[in-house]
Amino acid sequence: LPEWDESCPFCPGNEAQTPNELLRLPALETLPWQVRVVPNRFPALSLDGDIMMKEEGRLLRKRPGVGVHEVIIETPSHNIPMALMTYEQVESVLIAYQERYKALREDRRLKFITIFKNHGWASGTSLVHSHSQLVATPVAATYYRQKLDVAMDYYDDVGRCLYCDLITEELERAERIVAETEEFVLLHPYASRVPWESWIIPKGHWASFGQFPTALLHHLAMILRDTLFCLYKCLDNPAFNYTIETSTTELEEDPSYHWHLRILPRLTTIAGFEIGSGMYINIQMPEDTAELMRKKACSFPGDQCPTLKRATS
Ligand SMILES: [Zn+2]
Ligand SMILES: [Zn+2]
Repeated sequence: LPEWDESCPFCPGNEAQTPNELLRLPALETLPWQVRVVPNRFPALSLDGDIMMKEEGRLLRKRPGVGVHEVIIETPSHNIPMALMTYEQVESVLIAYQERYKALREDRRLKFITIFKNHGWASGTSLVHSHSQLVATPVAATYYRQKLDVAMDYYDDVGRCLYCDLITEELERAERIVAETEEFVLLHPYASRVPWESWIIPKGHWASFGQFPTALLHHLAMILRDTLFCLYKCLDNPAFNYTIETSTTELEEDPSYHWHLRILPRLTTIAGFEIGSGMYINIQMPEDTAELMRKKACSFPGDQCPTLKRATS
């Protein structure tokens, strides 16, 4: 890919092609931007309308698509994927995520904020210039509700956070741990849904990404960039999705839920069996892929991928 593409709406010089800017880093207009946040040109949701549910019949309910859909342009360079960015650049992206999260949670209509990234055609992205997205909705996702139900049951039973206990147990067993830093654990979860599924979990307990201390985003940037770099090298720049799995804005102090970042490489296709059964065929064991990743990180020359290398050696 070229470093700059004149037809790309995310490249510098084409700022007028995106709707009015919501955030720019650095904020100073005289400096060239490193990260921009803009409304999505083709939003899935908009803030006009009523969030009330309407009954259309005994079994049919609907509500207007009220919400916010934003795009985070992660770099001015057309051809730099996140796996090859500097830590400072990734940290700026994470700061932008958090600033937008905090701004949007002020709107009491918005209960749930999903921040995610699609990379590569198989992930569903339509633009190659590195970017991520944020969607804020008046309802919590079913997927989050299911996870919260399990975590809440566990908390009611034993009085501890399921994810805090998961970290302790996985560190003891060490089979699925890829790396451990002072602030984070990187692991391939037991019974992963897809091959090379990778979770970055903060060791400290915060239910919400919005509550995570901004001062620690630098540490998250380091382990995230190094994880993506290692996947890039192990799997030859794979397509992937990542999502920041956080609580609703109303449950940010929840003792039972624990935010984390989930990376799903798109190496296999979801097909009839998965659709028909809700069961996922994973062709590689997480214990094996975790080991492969640890070995790969240690084989990088010089100071490449230091977070994983130092943490695994
Ligand atoms: Zn571009
Ligand atoms: Zn916890």
